[in-house]
Amino acid sequence: MKHRIALVTGSNRGIGYATVQELLKKGYRVIMTARKEADGAKSLSELEKYGDVKFHPLDVSDPESIHRIARYIESTIGQLDILINNAGIHYDTWQSATSADLDQVQETLNVNLFGAWRMALAVVPFMQKQKHGRIVNVSSGSGAFAEMGSGTPGYSISKAAMNVLTIKLASDLRKYNILVNSVCPGWVRTEMGGMAAPRSPQKGAETIIWAAELPDHGPTGKFFRDKREIAW
Ligand code: NDP
Repeated sequence: MKHRIALVTGSNRGIGYATVQELLKKGYRVIMTARKEADGAKSLSELEKYGDVKFHPLDVSDPESIHRIARYIESTIGQLDILINNAGIHYDTWQSATSADLDQVQETLNVNLFGAWRMALAVVPFMQKQKHGRIVNVSSGSGAFAEMGSGTPGYSISKAAMNVLTIKLASDLRKYNILVNSVCPGWVRTEMGGMAAPRSPQKGAETIIWAAELPDHGPTGKFFRDKREIAW
């Protein structure tokens, strides 16, 4: 596995940071990313002791930024095996569908859905060439129809849409040995989850890493929590 290369979006803090840490401990080479250079540099200096990690700036809401990281991969490594679409924003507990600020909802979709989609489009060509790839979309129970109630309208809709993206990508890419799955990390102690959450970022990263390491012919187009399939 040592030659496998992984990229994690939004990995300067929270679940993304813990995912990079755990992947490094397992011997993967990792591209960690952050919107801000300073945040990336700080995280890089902490993460280097765990393994072979490089930093590249990335804002998933900006197509140019995605173009730049794809060119970086092409020119320096020429390979990408694992994409973790972790970057996410606006758990909008402060609004409801009947009071929603649609500009904010649009911003949420631009990161949580289109950011993940743009990233998939950018890296799938590497994976197709290799005939190997794993894409993990970090979703949420808030996006599961089975668990959905009122509240967090922008966030829930963005994660439900991300789950549809998972199914679509998975069925297009299965023939290339590229497995695409959604993972809910559970309720995790991060800036988004808050300090009352029961799970550590490491625990949140567990099923994400499990989905990144699925064997060939493993499940694809599914939704998991705690390594078990859950309802959409
Ligand atoms: P955090 O808020 O702690 O971290 C979010 C990360 O995403 C940060 O690194 C942030 O960067 C980055 N980010 C935000 N916008 C962009 C962007 N435009 N481009 C690139 N990176 C961006 O959240 P968590 O670690 O808790 O969440 C990680 C994922 O897990 C999210 O997708 C979230 O929806 C999901 N999740 C979290 C749960 C929880 O309980 N915490 C529960 C269920 C799902 P910056 O520092 O620059 O803002």
